[in-house]
Amino acid sequence: MSDTPANIIKALRLTADAVIDPRGDFARADACRIVTDTRSLQPGDVFLALRGERFDGHDFLEMARDRGAIAVIVDAPGTTGIAQLVVADTRLALGLLARHHRLQWQGRLAAITGNSGKTTVRALCEAILSRSAPTHATRGNLNNDIGVPLTLLQLDDRCQQAVIEAGANHTGEIAWTTALAGPDVVLINNVTDAHIGEFGSAGHIAQAKAEILSGLSTEGVAVLNRNDRFYTVWAALASQHDILDFGIDVPARVQAIDMVSDEGFYQFTLTIDGDALGRVALPLMGRHNVMNALGAAAVAHAMDCEPACILAGLNGAEGVARRMVMIVGIRGATLIDDSYNANPGAMRASLDTLAQRPGPRWCFLGAMGELGRYSAQAHEALGQYARNLDIDHMVTIGEPARAISTAFGERGRHFDDWASLIEFAHHALPANASVLIKGSLSAGMDRLVNALRSES
Ligand code: ATP
Ligand code: MG
Repeated sequence: MSDTPANIIKALRLTADAVIDPRGDFARADACRIVTDTRSLQPGDVFLALRGERFDGHDFLEMARDRGAIAVIVDAPGTTGIAQLVVADTRLALGLLARHHRLQWQGRLAAITGNSGKTTVRALCEAILSRSAPTHATRGNLNNDIGVPLTLLQLDDRCQQAVIEAGANHTGEIAWTTALAGPDVVLINNVTDAHIGEFGSAGHIAQAKAEILSGLSTEGVAVLNRNDRFYTVWAALASQHDILDFGIDVPARVQAIDMVSDEGFYQFTLTIDGDALGRVALPLMGRHNVMNALGAAAVAHAMDCEPACILAGLNGAEGVARRMVMIVGIRGATLIDDSYNANPGAMRASLDTLAQRPGPRWCFLGAMGELGRYSAQAHEALGQYARNLDIDHMVTIGEPARAISTAFGERGRHFDDWASLIEFAHHALPANASVLIKGSLSAGMDRLVNALRSES
């Protein structure tokens, strides 16, 4: 049986009556939380056991019972002395429960996808929308086929609008999560070649991101990035919908005009459909964050948010930890902690920002992961890109990041171990340097941030 939503619903219905222990009371489950981690379980919750690569929730059924779960949802019956709902696939059951819950909820929902900036745009949308009405938003980075359903299950009457992230590391993931979420507004932020090893090409990534359109209601709004190379592809796919496009230096419905920058921070006038809403001094560094701000403004506008809330939300926005966060470092250096993640487009955006900063400009980069057969060429291309910018020193750690500093040239330097890298940085960093620290999460570049903070 294929994994279409219709088939999954059928599969769940076929097995949903297989409650093997009648002592539990599934009638109460309507008002219960569904929890997948026993550490956050409270008495009265229903525990849903997921199987992952490194864990199996079915190993924790007794713990769930001891912590007061009223029932468990499992794919095979256990011997726990607690009500069990046996389903064909607990991951799919989670999705269907989330879908059911979403349909009971009356509010409006925006869903955000893209290779880069989902969490930032979500945070900006939250900052804007919560000024107009109570808003629920994705917590942390819960944006995959488990995180989206868990986020949907958190929707309740206390909020009238929601903004959620939908990420993907494989084809079909967003088609599934958007079908569960039933968004009124969707945003496709960009393709910056994240996970290109898994998807095979940028075009395949663009297609995977376009899956979000399949969940959009007919009267829903598609918010699209006019500056992205795949804009025309997405616009064609969204032609049945109202399209709200955003961009810089292009004729878009949501625009930043009269843009000025000062050491990487931007001010601009926000316009929507030709009307100037007012001036924004964005507290987030980097031109890419202007793009994120435009995307968030467009989503908020599509959710019928007042211009005053949009402006106040952007002007008062706070950054997200480990995304372009400025920290005082040793000898008065400005550390730009962008260590959360990296991919080719995100790296270029951050290097462009570093090039605008004052003082000697230093770059400490770790590897970009999940690039598959593109890895070597992408790292080398990044080194060449940096060489053409006003950047003074390029320091890398670990393979395959070596190719970046090699391509950068004589002011490039590579380290294979952390102790040597940290010692070098401590001695070599000049006073008042601007220091970008970035790499994929797996590169663990936060270790260097912590080593170079002024108090360390
Ligand atoms: P993830 O998929 O890893 O959760 P995300 O899509 O949620 O990432 P953010 O966490 O907001 O993205 O940002 C991660 C990094 O992506 C930032 O540190 C920055 O380098 C880069 N980035 C953010 N927005 C953009 C953008 N609009 N264009 C290019 N790069 C961006
Ligand atoms: Mg994210």
